[in-house]
Amino acid sequence: MTNEWKHLLENCKLCPVECGANRLENAGACGVSGLHIAKYYLHPFEEPCISFKNGSGTVFFTGCNLRCAFCQNYEVSRAERGKAITPQELADIFKALEAMGAENVSLVTPSHLIAYLLPAFEIYKPKIPVVYNSSGYEKIDALKRIDPFIDVYLPDMKFYSPTLSKRYLGKENYFDVASEAVEFMANSKPLKMTDDGKMLSGCIVRHLVMPLCTADTKAILKWFKRSLPSDTYLSLMSQYTPFGKIDGMPELSRPITAREYNAALDTADELGITNLFTQERKSSNEKYIPEWDY
Ligand code: SF4
Repeated sequence: MTNEWKHLLENCKLCPVECGANRLENAGACGVSGLHIAKYYLHPFEEPCISFKNGSGTVFFTGCNLRCAFCQNYEVSRAERGKAITPQELADIFKALEAMGAENVSLVTPSHLIAYLLPAFEIYKPKIPVVYNSSGYEKIDALKRIDPFIDVYLPDMKFYSPTLSKRYLGKENYFDVASEAVEFMANSKPLKMTDDGKMLSGCIVRHLVMPLCTADTKAILKWFKRSLPSDTYLSLMSQYTPFGKIDGMPELSRPITAREYNAALDTADELGITNLFTQERKSSNEKYIPEWDY
């Protein structure tokens, strides 16, 4: 890696955690020092304009700067799995995904790895759209560095309430940080679609409907409507699946109910949100959890 990016890792403040780890020697609070991946493949189950015909060329990175109690990919996000690669090898993966016919290259949980993504893009910028699939817990100055290489933002917007954010994500300031980051993302990429419905540029905000969180979902949707450009898409997800290590949170031990998801759909309708992706409630199962390769 060139010295240009190394300094970002010596006293790492790339993400809002700002833990200051020297990642040239040790892992930070995100669980990793270097660049690790758990899988890359053609993902068929993203939003239709992202998976489109052949599937989204998804790269799952190891580590995460959030600690979601309900994480469905916890083996990867907690850095229990993954294989170390170099930026050159990541650039080769971009080329391999293109050769496989991927509709785009989608970077999953990339925010703690921006210092490794930048040199990979300098080696090879894919000719297909690049999707930045993030938790939303991001710093604007880090986003500005990676933004020239991104075509589509696919951020989560998880919780509005500081109390819920602290309980479920370990970050009381989640909404304040993520709303600013997502507003940057949505304003950065005007919507462009092909005539047959593939997204070339734009922003899709994902909100996972959670058990007993109807009022919080309503607050998120109101923020979405009043704060983001009208061409931004909302993806209202019903796929919450109790899975993994959820200790001491019995309210998370069940999927959402039809009533909870319908309440979210009704709110979107009342607010006039028409750029909307929805899911069948049967989406709540483990088919959305990939089999990890590394
Ligand atoms: S990216 Fe990782 S090491 Fe850097 S500040 Fe965030 S948690 Fe700490």
